[in-house]
Amino acid sequence: MEDGGVEPYLKPVPKVEPEAAPYWQSLRDHAMKVQHCDSCGHWYFPPSTHCPACLSADVTWRPVSGRAVVWSSATMHRAYLPAYEGEIPYNLSLVELDEGPRVWTNVVEIPPDQVRIGLNVRVRYDDVTPGLTLARFIPAAGQ
Ligand SMILES: [Zn+2]
Repeated sequence: MEDGGVEPYLKPVPKVEPEAAPYWQSLRDHAMKVQHCDSCGHWYFPPSTHCPACLSADVTWRPVSGRAVVWSSATMHRAYLPAYEGEIPYNLSLVELDEGPRVWTNVVEIPPDQVRIGLNVRVRYDDVTPGLTLARFIPAAGQ
């Protein structure tokens, strides 16, 4: 690009709620964290001020392994927004982290029709703007 900068990011960006700010910061740091309940040991996502399992407020942000398994998956064949027109078909998946929580993501680096439930994946951090990093997932090595 002429200005040497990053291409403009034209897709929707998440609205960062205060309780989710540590999650987005952890992605910017390339070290994904999710919440852990220090009362009952439950890991959970999406972020919340209280544990959804026991309602305790004794929760902390802890790093996760970045390893996950595809829990559900779909291939998108239609661009609902112009910014996606060059990317169809693309994958949309719900992956289950080794720690338990499930997160929506894209599984990338393999054709969308090869993403299968049960596929072992690992996180890839994509810095899409100076202030936003997305967690996408790629097949884990050795598959
Ligand atoms: Zn709990």
